Amino acid sequence: MREHLTMMIKPASAACNLACDYCFYLDTARNRSVHHHPVMSDEVADAIIDKSIALSRDLRFVFQGGEPSLAGLPFFERFVSRVEERMGEGRRVSWAFQTNGVGLDRRWAEFFKAHGFLVGISFDGTRRLHDLHRGEGSGRSVLDTIGFFTKEGVDFNILSVVTDDTVDNEKIVYSFLTGHGLHYQQYIPCIDPMQGGERFLSAEGYERFLKAMFDLWFDSFMNQTPVSNRFFDNLVGMIAGYPPESCDMAGICSVHYVAEANGDIYPCDFYCTDGYRLGNILVDGFPTLDERRRGMRFIEESSNTIDGCETCPWKHLCRGGCKRYRNDDGYRFCSTMKGFFPYVIERLHYVAKQITPP
Ligand code: SF4
Ligand code: SF4
Repeated sequence: MREHLTMMIKPASAACNLACDYCFYLDTARNRSVHHHPVMSDEVADAIIDKSIALSRDLRFVFQGGEPSLAGLPFFERFVSRVEERMGEGRRVSWAFQTNGVGLDRRWAEFFKAHGFLVGISFDGTRRLHDLHRGEGSGRSVLDTIGFFTKEGVDFNILSVVTDDTVDNEKIVYSFLTGHGLHYQQYIPCIDPMQGGERFLSAEGYERFLKAMFDLWFDSFMNQTPVSNRFFDNLVGMIAGYPPESCDMAGICSVHYVAEANGDIYPCDFYCTDGYRLGNILVDGFPTLDERRRGMRFIEESSNTIDGCETCPWKHLCRGGCKRYRNDDGYRFCSTMKGFFPYVIERLHYVAKQITPP
């Protein structure tokens, strides 16, 4: 039996109640033969649950989309109750849920609180920036949800997509989030479409963003009001000798299982396309899925072989980025990192020293 298994589940497939112009999953879904599947059936959910419980002692279920809440609260109540019924003594299960935060009311907040979910809420920093890419009025709705979650004591963090519109607005974004008590922040550089198309974030813009955000983050550390920034926290941890917890910073892909609503399994959220389909949970066991991942050399071919990285002074921290952000020219944000690291390296070491036990 394995010690630990994480399953990412997309119960509503790519369906969403927003139409964000930069949505990577809609783009991914459009690059496979069946774009959208109907909401996950009980049969598929039960196969995921039963096979996962049989495979691993501890489990983590992460619900994503599209917008997973479109599967409806009863889907999740049933899912959680079946898992809790079947997990034996001494085994642990944890839950995570990534949502656009639109239309989730107090009942959802109570459910998340009752079962100890960690919820990631997408919010692009301010209402104006949010509405710009996600639709008029969507930011207001997210803030309402954040209000419910705060009131119920739900454990949540904020995920903001960084575009060139965020650049030069770092102070406004940072003040808005911290001013609303949102101290767990993750900023995701907007990803390019799979087959090319409009780019929402330039390498220069991302460098400016990272530098400005780092200044704010470091000041908050020095003022003893630390704010969590997932990227910076990982860099500090890496300098202190820990492996990054974020797979996109490891320089090589790790083992993931992503379940689409029809039970199809893929090796990564970014690669839910026909060529990367590992199998289907209704008919395949984990050994078969693993064998197919090895067969397509998904992990092996992700290790960083970019020209120039071997001799780069920032290789130990950059590692060539996530495979999905690489193209024929190398890592899309290579020049970003070459500008960013010299600007922050001394301060990163300073923070790492402060948090390392003597
Ligand atoms: S492509 Fe990126 S996100 Fe996906 S497994 Fe590899 S490193 Fe992780
Ligand atoms: S900064 Fe560029 S050259 Fe250096 S490790 Fe990163 S991708 Fe490679």
